[in-house]
Amino acid sequence: MQVSSIKKCAGCGDHRSEVELMRIVNNKGEIKVDPGGVMSGRDVYICPQITCLDAAVKNNGLSDALKIEISDSIYNKLLEEINHG
Ligand SMILES: [Zn+2]
Repeated sequence: MQVSSIKKCAGCGDHRSEVELMRIVNNKGEIKVDPGGVMSGRDVYICPQITCLDAAVKNNGLSDALKIEISDSIYNKLLEEINHG
C-alpha cells in the first residue's frame, strides 16, 4: 500500500495529496519537475494549473522555497510542464 502525504500548494495554499500536486525541485541549482518524488534538493509543491503557478511566483512562494530566482526560462519550463505534463 502506498502512503501519500498531504502537501500544501505554494500558490493557492490548499492542502492536497502530494500525488495531485506538481513537485518542483532545485536540484543543484537546476529547477526540475519531479513527478516521482525521487530527486533530492529543496522542493515545493503546486497544483498543476497556471493560476497556482502564477500565484506562487507572485507571492514568492517558489523563489523562497527553492532559494532561487524564478527566471523567465524557469517559468516557461514549468508552464510547459503544466500544459503538456
Ligand atoms: Zn494550488
